[in-house]
Amino acid sequence: MLEASEEVYSSLRRRFKGDLLRPGESGYEAARAIWNGLVARAPGLIALCADPSDVENAVRAASQVGILTAVRCGGHSLAGFSTCDRGLVIDLSRMRRVVVDSEARRARIAGGCLLGTVDAATQKAGLVFPSGVVSHTGASGLILGGGTGWLTRRFGLSCDNVEGFTLVTCDGAVVRASSKENLDLFWALRGGGGNFGVVTEFEVKLHPLTAVVFAEGLSPEADIGSLLAYWRNFMAEAPLDLKWNISLRLAPHTNTVPAALRGQPVASNSLVWTGDPAAGRSYLAGALARCRPDSVSSKIISFLDLQTMADADFPHGRRYYTKSGYFSDLDERSIASMAEAVATIPSSETQIELAYLGGAAAQVAPRETAFGDRSAPIIMNLLASWSDATADASNLSWIRGLFRRLRPAMKPGAYVNFMSADEQDRVPEAYQERWDRMVAVKSHYDPTNFFRLNQNVPPRKLPPTHP
Ligand SMILES: Cc1cc2nc3c(=O)[nH]c(=O)nc-3n(C[C@H](O)[C@H](O)[C@H](O)COP(=O)(O)OP(=O)(O)OC[C@H]3O[C@@H](n4cnc5c(N)ncnc54)[C@H](O)[C@@H]3O)c2cc1C
Repeated sequence: MLEASEEVYSSLRRRFKGDLLRPGESGYEAARAIWNGLVARAPGLIALCADPSDVENAVRAASQVGILTAVRCGGHSLAGFSTCDRGLVIDLSRMRRVVVDSEARRARIAGGCLLGTVDAATQKAGLVFPSGVVSHTGASGLILGGGTGWLTRRFGLSCDNVEGFTLVTCDGAVVRASSKENLDLFWALRGGGGNFGVVTEFEVKLHPLTAVVFAEGLSPEADIGSLLAYWRNFMAEAPLDLKWNISLRLAPHTNTVPAALRGQPVASNSLVWTGDPAAGRSYLAGALARCRPDSVSSKIISFLDLQTMADADFPHGRRYYTKSGYFSDLDERSIASMAEAVATIPSSETQIELAYLGGAAAQVAPRETAFGDRSAPIIMNLLASWSDATADASNLSWIRGLFRRLRPAMKPGAYVNFMSADEQDRVPEAYQERWDRMVAVKSHYDPTNFFRLNQNVPPRKLPPTHP
């Protein structure tokens, strides 16, 4: 019997405009790799789509054959959902067109764009689309799950800035969703991930911004507890223009780090001020006073520099594992657990990432979009990053152990974009009271769960077919 992937190949090869790659063919090895080196799979066929009609044909062929199908934009799914063994990968990486209407402050973003592609195009018009903090991340996966970054407090989540989606549903049909068309789908696509179809285009709002004040500094291990308590209180009252992220980690061995701190547990503080620099001075000074003076810097940088400054810290091909959750508040016990855990971090790149949301993201009513919790301002991501497979066990167990200790103080909820593959049981928790509506939309648009390599919302069971 023919492998399912060969059936799809035969069906597509005459009309496909992009490239179809099978194991052993030139380009296949490079195309099969995704960002997370922990997830190495061998698809039976990789369909590098040239345009939306390739996507339609690929989905239709795959649906008919019933082959396991992964959809890929930037390949940065932490869980590794954008690949599979023996199945089909619908890869959109050749679809990276961004069309900016500077007067209307709107853009149309193709489904294969990276954040960097979007930033480069929108900055030419002095405009920004609020997205994530690493420019090689895929825009589609990030937006569909929600999308948080430096501008979340000022302009909201990425998904809050989408006005329309064009997607290919499981039967190969092209469907539009906006505030005027298919309202349930429009609601579900803003936070519901890849559950409903392949998005080939996003229509988004843009905002004027070309530069920010960027400040950073390190707080030594002994000060981590008091810093986190200060941050929690300070950010609750901070203006929307201020974003302050903290990473608890081992300080890198670089020239910019004071010699006494290198390799030591620290809190690494990164602050962005998006408003008038003079108005931000006192807020930044208050925060930087919690850092070691010889580690502090503050400067005005371009938006493009901001968006690319962390790129090299998260290289492709390393091994990554993550667990995350929300806090309404950080109690003293959680602060102590985090501070203690830094001292036992198993890898120099592994870290506890803390971001304070709120602001514009919290001003959208919870029922307006499918996105997870907007009320808990603190989001924590435990991110392990290492390169040697022999360190898999120590990194995974460090993350899991710390998560278990912190879990009782967390607010139930999860951000789908920060979830690992072993957390499918937490998907209902991500949507909470929005779960039934998610299941209803999924059952309507993808009744056979064709799109299941994602933080999956299973459709209602199909009634048995009668002969
Ligand atoms: C280095 C790094 C930095 C990150 N920084 C941030 C950050 O600052 N803020 C934040 O919110 N998140 C961040 N994330 C998490 C990120 O949002 C998710 O990993 C996201 O899924 C990545 O999108 P992608 O398109 O690259 O992923 P992919 O692996 O290509 O896809 C991820 C999921 O989306 C689905 N999908 C992809 N494209 C489409 C499409 N066109 N239509 C339908 N479904 C699709 C896939 O099937 C899969 O389920 C980061 C991740 C990494 C690895």
